[in-house]
Amino acid sequence: MPATSSAPLTAEEILQLDRAHVWHPYSSFTAPSPIYPVRSAQGVTLTLSDGRTLIDGMASWWSVLHGYNHPFINRALTEQLQQMSHVMFGGLTHEPAVRLCQKLVALTPEGLDKVFLCDSGSVSVEVAMKMALQFWHSQGKAEKNRFIALHKGYHGDTFGAMSVCDPVTGMHHLFSHTLTQHYFADSPKTRFYEPWQPQDLDSLKALLQQHSEHIAALILEPIVQGTGGMHFYSPEYLRGARELCDQYEVLLIADEIATGFGRTGKWFACEHAGISPDIMCLGKTLTAGYITLAATLCNHRVSEGICQGEAGVFMHGPTFMGNPLACSAALANIELLEQGHWQAQVRAIEKQLQEELELCRTLAAVADVRVLGSIGVVELRQPQTLHKLQPALVEQGIWVRPFGKLVYIMPSYTIAPHELRQLTQGIYRVVEKLSSEG
Ligand SMILES: *Cc1c(COP(=O)(O)O)cnc(C)c1O
Repeated sequence: MPATSSAPLTAEEILQLDRAHVWHPYSSFTAPSPIYPVRSAQGVTLTLSDGRTLIDGMASWWSVLHGYNHPFINRALTEQLQQMSHVMFGGLTHEPAVRLCQKLVALTPEGLDKVFLCDSGSVSVEVAMKMALQFWHSQGKAEKNRFIALHKGYHGDTFGAMSVCDPVTGMHHLFSHTLTQHYFADSPKTRFYEPWQPQDLDSLKALLQQHSEHIAALILEPIVQGTGGMHFYSPEYLRGARELCDQYEVLLIADEIATGFGRTGKWFACEHAGISPDIMCLGKTLTAGYITLAATLCNHRVSEGICQGEAGVFMHGPTFMGNPLACSAALANIELLEQGHWQAQVRAIEKQLQEELELCRTLAAVADVRVLGSIGVVELRQPQTLHKLQPALVEQGIWVRPFGKLVYIMPSYTIAPHELRQLTQGIYRVVEKLSSEG
């Protein structure tokens, strides 16, 4: 082990220290899954500490939109660093935050005009839920204190967010005794490209009919149910859900943490249905994968209600709220998006994924192939372990991290056709081998 922190570690030393002390997402110290020290990242290429390079298909969990180490975002951050990296947001404000909030209001669906900046996606969901509760409290309807969420939904790992994740297929059933019990509607069955089946909304309608006087809000991921299974559903469901929320006086929270900023081919997935939620969560893609930052937006009705309520203020305030570095990364991300290349990039990725991932459909191990925007999914018939798949994918020179039955990618919009082909071919070879093993 090196004596000083300045001596660079070898790949072996990094692995050894990691195994000894470091938790990873959903990780075990006793049955660790394969792990790879990475030295640097450029464009869509990860360089491992042992010198191997991998084409990145994950964009660091949806978030890296313009590739790693982007000169424009690097410059924005460096310039902000010279001014101030952080300052408290209680009683103080600054240009990066106000400019970012102005942009977010302009870009998001009509009506959303107040922005709460926070640290991570899960926290933005907590904030959204608290906004809904405080709103109804202020309306003299404190009994509206439960939520409806969708089966197969995922909204994060903190306690409030866990309570609205799918209670069975979600990853949180272990905690169910500690969590507030909410209501769960059937997940939409009509897929994005299929003819609409109106009975999809029956379950939601029945819950609202029965319980609306106790329901503060419906929370859902618009169009793409991500971590809960990578399902792409009909915009008609979203339109119908908006109408039902209005009819039964329930707020609508759209969790666009994964879908925001172009992933599905629109700036925001709500646009597929032409609807505006009362509250919207943004995260993951907000800083193009540079620094953690999330935002919860709400409309005038919600903000007015909260401020006229008993508390008189919205009761939340993270220490690192409105971090200027994060805000300037988000502004640079949005400026790059506003240059307008992303629409053509996402369309090209969608077309190439449709052609190339489709080849996997004939393989015995494959149950389904689906593509929407820059998201490509190969669903297997059987769940597979990372122990088996991860090294095989790395051997193909690609970074793809499957979970359960899903081998999926959502690359940076800037990926070149030959790089994307390397990803789809690598996935094909690994799944082909799996198929031949029976
Ligand atoms: C990732 C994700 C979250 C949680 O965000 P974190 O930054 O991981 O806390 C919430 N909702 C959706 C839809 C997500 O994809």
